[in-house]
Amino acid sequence: MRRFLPLLLSISLACLGTLFLLAVAVSDAHAQTSTLPAQQVGGSVALTFDDGPSTFTPQILNVLQQSGVRATFFEVGQQVQARPGLTQEAYQAGDVIGNHSWSHPNLTLLTPSQVQGQLSRTSAAIQQATGVSPTLFRPPYGATNTTISATAEQLGLRPVLWNVDSLDWERPGVNAIVRNVLSTANNGSIVLMHDGGGDRSETVQALPQIIAELQQRGFVFVTP
Ligand SMILES: [Zn+2]
Repeated sequence: MRRFLPLLLSISLACLGTLFLLAVAVSDAHAQTSTLPAQQVGGSVALTFDDGPSTFTPQILNVLQQSGVRATFFEVGQQVQARPGLTQEAYQAGDVIGNHSWSHPNLTLLTPSQVQGQLSRTSAAIQQATGVSPTLFRPPYGATNTTISATAEQLGLRPVLWNVDSLDWERPGVNAIVRNVLSTANNGSIVLMHDGGGDRSETVQALPQIIAELQQRGFVFVTP
């Protein structure tokens, strides 16, 4: 039941919002001839892509560029080292590059000095590729603790998790990925997707629909 409460709350709020808009539309009928549809709620959403860069990154960049949308890429250091040109390309397109550790371990199982190495090595690789050291950090699997957060802060990295999971890594099909995002996206959402770590062709196909619908709802795209 607990997992349905936020949904029920969202539905209730959406209904209240609709009633409010209807009330405004009725009371204001003479003042203005056009009223925004109820679903055009506006607000901001951050699209984030983890585990790259990979061979799928150029396709993601292409979709983003065609939609005029910028996103955040939490990159794995050893992937950056293997494909620094893709990191540079994303950065030059206006996207933000964040640190996602060197080899994607569960950082909570490492010693403090190992964590330090995972983060500092990755920041150095990103700096080498883009000329700029990252300021955002996402721990692999979202697994973190106070020691990891403190280490990140010492390196000038702000931890960023997510609150909307596309579950694209499960490869559930394009429609499911679209639905997973659009059913929960709201003002302030940070959406987790992946441009690396496996076959991301479903993510590539889902992305144009996700962006188009969020734009239709009036959201703007931001960096977390
Ligand atoms: Zn990851």
